[in-house]
Amino acid sequence: MSYLNLPIGEKFIMKAMVLKSPGAPLELQDRAMPVCGPEEILLQVQACAVCRTDLHIIDGELPQPKLPLIPGHEIVGAIVARGERVSGRFAIGDRVGVPWLGYTCGSCHYCVTGRENLCDAARFTGYQIDGGYAEYAVANQGFVFPIPAAMGSVEIAPLLCAGLIGYRSLRMTGDAGRIGIYGFGAAAHIVTQVALHEGREIYAFTRRGDVQARDFARQLGAVWTGAADEKPPLQLDAAIIYAPAGELVPAALRVIRKGGVVVCAGIHMSDIPAFPYAILWGERQIRSVANLTRRDGEEFLALIERIPIRTETESFPLVHANVALAKLRCGEVRGAAVLDLQRS
Ligand SMILES: [Zn+2]
Ligand SMILES: [Zn+2]
Repeated sequence: MSYLNLPIGEKFIMKAMVLKSPGAPLELQDRAMPVCGPEEILLQVQACAVCRTDLHIIDGELPQPKLPLIPGHEIVGAIVARGERVSGRFAIGDRVGVPWLGYTCGSCHYCVTGRENLCDAARFTGYQIDGGYAEYAVANQGFVFPIPAAMGSVEIAPLLCAGLIGYRSLRMTGDAGRIGIYGFGAAAHIVTQVALHEGREIYAFTRRGDVQARDFARQLGAVWTGAADEKPPLQLDAAIIYAPAGELVPAALRVIRKGGVVVCAGIHMSDIPAFPYAILWGERQIRSVANLTRRDGEEFLALIERIPIRTETESFPLVHANVALAKLRCGEVRGAAVLDLQRS
């Protein structure tokens, strides 16, 4: 590969926010720019959204990050260099998106049965592969998406995880018409727009007293909002839980009808407390969603060309990544937090 396409005078040093050990804040470092392998592309990062999973990694709740690590798995960037085996699908200057799923083996039981998100040998961006909290990042060409031209990079970035996980979790509810959502943050605000477009109703459960989240849900079109322990006026067909709180699982089981499903969409959740079998009985189900397949990404990105999704974002410069993470931890971000690399 070559860097011939980089701007003249470009130095091969980049700024990155780096996790050296879980529990510590990210450190601003000057790093050597990554070099792309034969199947990889090098991106100049334009925006990278901040996901709750990043918090779980930084707080040590997910066990196997590479260290030191550049987090970030909702990356939008422009291609500045290509490995020698990169297909003609991608040209220098193209804008692409990089999601959490960064590599799969392609040959295990899960990969050959359409469930590559469960691949035992999968590797993940911003976890086992350096991610987008940096000026440059590399990605395997097979795991990046061309992205719609109409939206800005900051607006698109949250679609690459919050949007995709939201989409996959919505699909897991089948044809549910009345859907409860617990935790009204980045994923919820996107999935609400998709669900309304499909003619479904959204019931938003927020933290007691979180007036801002409630107003936000109403503005987006939720037909009902309430606290997590409140009962909506009608039984729901399904519930999706985005908040990492295990006690929401029995709470959700109590508001869905027979045959309904509770979808747990996070990668980490506190323990689920014991609950009476009676609230699960009646063929209710509890299931989790584990990351995404590339097919989810293609379907979702095609869908958003047809639905005018509006992402609500709060942007931060790269060097303020710790501020963005702290605000997300406290539930103070309306919509999605995004690092905007085009802002200094
Ligand atoms: Zn994520
Ligand atoms: Zn596999």
